[in-house]
Amino acid sequence: MDMPLLQQTLSELGQPAYRERQIWRWLSQGADSFEVMTDLPRGLREALGERLAFSSLTLEREARARDGTVKALLRTRDGRPVEAVLMTYRAPRGVRGADPGAAGRRSLCLSSQSGCPLTCRFCATGAMRFHRNLSASEIVDQALHFRRSGPVDHAVFMGMGEPMMNLDAVLEACARLPAIGISHRRTAISTVGWIPGIRRLTSEPMPIRLALSLHAADDALRCALMPVNERYPLADVLQACREHYERKRRRVFVEYVMLAGVNDSHVQARQLAAVLDPRIFKVNLIPFNPTDAPYEGSSPKAIEAFRAELERQGLGATVRLTRGRDIDAACGQLAARGA
Ligand code: SAH
Repeated sequence: MDMPLLQQTLSELGQPAYRERQIWRWLSQGADSFEVMTDLPRGLREALGERLAFSSLTLEREARARDGTVKALLRTRDGRPVEAVLMTYRAPRGVRGADPGAAGRRSLCLSSQSGCPLTCRFCATGAMRFHRNLSASEIVDQALHFRRSGPVDHAVFMGMGEPMMNLDAVLEACARLPAIGISHRRTAISTVGWIPGIRRLTSEPMPIRLALSLHAADDALRCALMPVNERYPLADVLQACREHYERKRRRVFVEYVMLAGVNDSHVQARQLAAVLDPRIFKVNLIPFNPTDAPYEGSSPKAIEAFRAELERQGLGATVRLTRGRDIDAACGQLAARGA
């Protein structure tokens, strides 16, 4: 729902301010039309239905993977592609590498921009055109889309875009997530290391998790993989993360995409462990999802060896469970196909 437009429409219709709160309560609980909002006068429900689109996004396509992951390709009113993903986790009986704490979770992967202005070499979104920042309503509407099919409880900004480059809208959307069922502690913002955004999140009272896409422990390799490192070099980014930890006392999660022969050697594992303080950082190794980029993912064996070396160095490390691979919903593949 375009919330500013809703406010404007309500005031044009001469409605009291509490109507907006009533409508938001329904929306946040998964209502799918004005019709069902039975505590609004019938005439008002009809007037709103005639004047307002129910969502700022329209669903173009939805794909369901064998593991239950659902990927939605949505469009803004002006036709820009937006992708959002729902990951559901069943009780992980006997599944290797599964996180037992994740059982029953319904977790969202949200986009902050349509396309991305950054050009990380391995990322499919980085290769597509940057359209624009999403509004707070367009971000919230991704969550509401999935809320209409059941409860949701976690969210990560790991869809399209760099959330720290659109932080006003992202934080405004985050402020609405608890009403939908997603507390701030169960919300994570992932960044390439956009320092002004990290600092702002540090001074922000909402206890949102910071996740850092690192992918390399030295500047030369990181610049080759992520040109943004020229602007915000490794040492400065890690310093901003340490300050974040000092202030918030919440660990920073490091994402590290495993690229065969590029960043997955034994030496590189030791190098990574040397730059990350284990009290502050926890590493999540991400199996690479093939894109058009000229990289290959590390083998499961290489990933496990890398993980084991980090642990030997005293640094906590897990391997991300890859979800939705058969429908291109895996991270880094959002929207590139449909855009
Ligand atoms: N711009 C933010 C958030 C979006 S990307 C960021 O970079 O953190 C979410 C994560 O997916 C990032 O860690 C990104 O590096 C990773 N990613 C991108 N392409 C990928 C791919 N093809 N395979 C695996 N992970 C990928």
